[in-house]
Amino acid sequence: AAQNIESAFLFYSEEMNQRAKEHLRIESELRQALSNNELMLYYQPKVSLRSGRIVGAEALLRWRHPVRGLVSPGVFIPVAEETGLILDLGSWVLEEACRQVREWKDANLIMPPIAVNLSARQFDNQLPKRIAAVLERHGVQPDQINLEITESLLVRGTDNVIAIMNELVAMGMALALDDFGTGYSSLAYLKKFPISTLKIDRSFVIGLPYEENDCAIARAIVTMAQQLRQEIVAEGVETAEQMSFLRELGCDQLQGYLFSQPIPAADFAGMLREGKRL
Ligand code: C2E
Ligand code: CA
Ligand code: CA
Ligand code: CA
Repeated sequence: AAQNIESAFLFYSEEMNQRAKEHLRIESELRQALSNNELMLYYQPKVSLRSGRIVGAEALLRWRHPVRGLVSPGVFIPVAEETGLILDLGSWVLEEACRQVREWKDANLIMPPIAVNLSARQFDNQLPKRIAAVLERHGVQPDQINLEITESLLVRGTDNVIAIMNELVAMGMALALDDFGTGYSSLAYLKKFPISTLKIDRSFVIGLPYEENDCAIARAIVTMAQQLRQEIVAEGVETAEQMSFLRELGCDQLQGYLFSQPIPAADFAGMLREGKRL
């Protein structure tokens, strides 16, 4: 038995070793990706459940690896979070989103707000100043860019975080709470934060309208958000049944493959020009 445990341990540490190597490889390749222009933003439309029109979009990172092809953010974002590289990635995303919005404005395209994802690690005292500088450099209005943050940031819950959020809101930016329902924030808790939009996590949307628990959770979130006068976006909507259920609940917006996958900037601009509707 002792030998089994020993070999199991060896196997385990070998596996950890592999993982560590993999992380190191991704980290160094990601650094190169930043300087070699291998990163891009895709845009996924958000549509109003009332009008059927595109009322926003989320910018999502894509890595076009010269050998491995398109690498999913699910693979490289966690590594970037761990290594701190997420700070450089985050700056790049903000810069690129503003550059793109400016280009669209110059082409006389009427743009709904574009949301970018912020890592909790980007959230420090200097964040509002840094964002203001990027916006100004590109001549982009603060209400053209929304910020998506996750519950882990709220759970950190210091006055400092609230002060930074208030500063961003005072600048004219809107904050959305991402992946809502997967963390620990309660109704009472949420009230403390200047958040204007809740995004219901895809894990609760998948089971609609057949899974009773998911229906109850979605209903509770929508009711709560309405009480707090927050907009509600359902993410990961793939079927017409999910859409109908969410619409009846009073959910405001939908984002998901049912309407569109995340797509390259040019395709999103085309979709806006055509006036594609739900
Ligand atoms: P997220 O912020 O929750 O983004 C939504 C994810 O759900 C995206 O995955 C999107 O492609 C996917 N999705 C949207 N609709 C559907 C659907 O109908 N069905 C299914 N199966 N999936 C759908 P993606 O692009 O792979 O991004 C994964 C995560 O990586 C994001 O989750 C976000 O947490 C992170 N991420 C992506 N870009 C950035 C970024 O620029 N900064 C940071 N900090 N994180 C990012
Ligand atoms: Ca998001
Ligand atoms: Ca999300
Ligand atoms: Ca999610």
